[in-house]
Amino acid sequence: MSDCVFCKIVSGEIPSNKVYEDDKIIVINDLNPGAPVHVLIIPKEHTESILTASADILVYIQSKLDEITTKLGIKEKGFRVVINYGKDGGQTVPHLHVHILGGKVLGWPPC
Ligand code: 5GP
Ligand code: ZN
Repeated sequence: MSDCVFCKIVSGEIPSNKVYEDDKIIVINDLNPGAPVHVLIIPKEHTESILTASADILVYIQSKLDEITTKLGIKEKGFRVVINYGKDGGQTVPHLHVHILGGKVLGWPPC
């Protein structure tokens, strides 16, 4: 989508700090990190949210979590996986993205 910030990051039009890339996803450091490690897993193909996403891409993202969190050095101590949806849920970018947070003991509940 031409006016989508994450599509622009995927295409390279907007620069980002990529920590992983393959044919289906990119993983970038969040611009405003909420933890010492805070990355976003972004599917290359535009889909708006967790509700519009295909099972295939969700399963693919799940299948890469071990590799990505190992690479980030947060697998052993643990991490959090977050998908925000809608206004109350805090989704600000309407292109599916999965937050991975770690690098400290995270508070709960997250509000
Ligand atoms: P949401 O609130 O939609 O769940 O998450 C959007 C996230 O994207 C936010 O944590 C925000 O900091 C991050 N973000 C927004 N624009 C950019 C950008 O241009 N580059 C990067 N790296 N992160 C962004
Ligand atoms: Zn997009």
